[in-house]
Amino acid sequence: MTETLPNPVSVTRFGTVALVEIENPPVNALALPVRAALLQAIEALDGDVGVAAIVIHGRGRHFIAGADVREFDAPPRPPLLNDVLLRLEACGKPVIAALHGTTLGGGAELALASHYRCATQDLSFGFPEVRLGLLPGSGGTVRLPRLVGIEKALEMMTGGTPVGFAAAVSLGLVDQEVAGDLRDGAIVYARELVRAGAPVRRVCDRGLAAPGASAFFGDYRATLSPAAVRVPATLRIVEAVEFAAAQPFRAALARARALFEECRVSSESKALRHLFFAERVASVPGARDIGRIGVVGAGTMGSGIAISAASAGFDVTLVDTKPEAVAAGIARIHKAFAEAARKGRMTAAAAAAATTRVSGESDLTALATADLVIEAVFENLAVKREVFARLGAACRAGAVLATNTSTLDVEVIADASGRRGDVVGMHFFSPANIMRLLEIVRGRDTAPEVVATALAVGRRLGKIGVVVGNCFGFVGNRMLYAYGRERELMLLEGALPEQIDRALEAFGMAMGPNAVGDLAGLDIGYQVRREWRDRPDDPRFYRISDLLVEQGRLGQKSGRGFYRYETAVRRGQPDPEVATLIRAESARLGIARREIGDPEIVERCMLALINEGARILDERIAARSADIDVVWCNGYGFPRQRGGPMFYADTLGLPHVLERVGHYGATLGARYWQPAGLLERLARTGGSFGSWRDEAAAGRGQASA
Ligand code: NAD
Repeated sequence: MTETLPNPVSVTRFGTVALVEIENPPVNALALPVRAALLQAIEALDGDVGVAAIVIHGRGRHFIAGADVREFDAPPRPPLLNDVLLRLEACGKPVIAALHGTTLGGGAELALASHYRCATQDLSFGFPEVRLGLLPGSGGTVRLPRLVGIEKALEMMTGGTPVGFAAAVSLGLVDQEVAGDLRDGAIVYARELVRAGAPVRRVCDRGLAAPGASAFFGDYRATLSPAAVRVPATLRIVEAVEFAAAQPFRAALARARALFEECRVSSESKALRHLFFAERVASVPGARDIGRIGVVGAGTMGSGIAISAASAGFDVTLVDTKPEAVAAGIARIHKAFAEAARKGRMTAAAAAAATTRVSGESDLTALATADLVIEAVFENLAVKREVFARLGAACRAGAVLATNTSTLDVEVIADASGRRGDVVGMHFFSPANIMRLLEIVRGRDTAPEVVATALAVGRRLGKIGVVVGNCFGFVGNRMLYAYGRERELMLLEGALPEQIDRALEAFGMAMGPNAVGDLAGLDIGYQVRREWRDRPDDPRFYRISDLLVEQGRLGQKSGRGFYRYETAVRRGQPDPEVATLIRAESARLGIARREIGDPEIVERCMLALINEGARILDERIAARSADIDVVWCNGYGFPRQRGGPMFYADTLGLPHVLERVGHYGATLGARYWQPAGLLERLARTGGSFGSWRDEAAAGRGQASA
């Protein structure tokens, strides 16, 4: 049976101008049916004597956001975009790309293959392929340098950041601005070109001047950051451009295509694509309407949350018991908006509007009309319960009450409010106005629409919301304690902070864990461990961190922590005093220090994460392993090109992971090295975390269907 699909490409005539429109919602991705229909349209119009010029336009709010990323999981199916674009470029009459909104990847390549480009002010033009571990494989690496020069092309493609309208005009990517309706303006522009006898202008006919210095590409490679180079696509992009600078157009296209294929099948690209899909938030039906947000606690987190909410257009009331804390919080918020305006991250008008949306109060009764209250007071259960008891009485019926606790029991906090169904955890990460991760903690009695509301608000704040269950530390911090435990044990067994950080940074972590501890403040974890009822009864557990805090070494804020901080140098220096302290503590605990290799450091930290992640899945604290990956890549600096700890475990192979956990159980003792039940089951049955589904939840779903 043949399926009839709606044609994603339509052609309308306006005299001698043919308007080709792509309509493949939501973002006009260049999926196979679009490529096929576009090729057909171009061939027909090229042969049509009644057509003098062709305008290509994307319906909706964007031109074309790129390829259909799902197609990259399989070998490419013809017609390839490369071939469609060659045909388009060869067209004998002017082809004008009418650009607006998102014009990325394959969409930008289509624009480059067109003969003329006009655009509206809302244009965002770029090549984000590198973020998926890919390179622009349909001519971007060959045509872009011909238009904007080698250096700029490399910067755009290895950086992946799109440029706006003004930059696109000054780079020569846009020939003509359209002020009003884009379709109408593009047709007028096409008519003008025809009337003026404008030639067919092909980028492929342009030469590409070799760079001035023979060492140019080598020098360019040397400027790339280690993090950028860990994604192989970055160097493949440089290689493709270097090839294009030395070889004819067609040969360079073929080379770029081959390099694209290498990238497509690489483990790094698979990992980045895994995260791309894991981070798409599903739609959230049933959310309550939120306009006014209350934030309780005007400290570090409360101020950051208020900035984030006001920037997204919410009215915000910030409450703190201490009037001086309210004033300091408001001042911090004003400063942040002024700085955003100064650096061009916000327009002056938007910053002024956001500033006026925030007001400060010193009494919780000011929150009587709030639709959502986010609590960010001290991490102390008694204090939080008191705040929730008062919020339960002060807030209107139906208001959502959220806590930003990092480790405390959301259900115990909810109990104090007298309205458990309205209470949810909204765990922001610091700095709350910058970090994208939001753990949404569902308590036993949290109403489904309250979870939906937290997700919807998170989305409006530009966050990636992940719904998790209630347990100590939820997903992220619970795993962090397993990771940190091994780090601390290895300090006692023979490693030094700088060696551990170096090894994990070489693996790809954004920052070594000791440096992270110093940045966050070692006293924060210290307080958490004092409040933690079930902390392991082990004299080695976080022993070094505790000692440092007790000696007043709190991290960067006190100039000393795991490292020593000199003025104005953010990177700490190894401190011989810390090494002495660690060695003395090993001796006091009777631990014989030994040489620990970097592979052991990485392996123990990763296995600890994976095993705890498996327990989290088994306990249904996370619904799917991809959620754990999203948490760790967005909140804890896990290398994206490894896809997250659970994806990484799957690439290692679960039988191998189980065997290594068993190895450490045999050599270091079973206390921390009991394999998680789910890990054992999946390793035995040839399963993977990625394909594991919560059978119980699936069963419930079927029963209610
Ligand atoms: P902070 O000490 O900077 O701020 C806490 C504020 O709460 C202070 O201004 C204090 O005056 C105010 N406060 C205390 N009791 C209050 C009450 N009864 N009513 C109103 N205000 C009160 O603390 P922070 O670092 O912003 O942390 C706040 C919460 O956020 C904690 O639960 C913490 O675990 C969580 N958190 C912190 C981070 C982080 O990195 N700092 C990250 C995620 C979550």
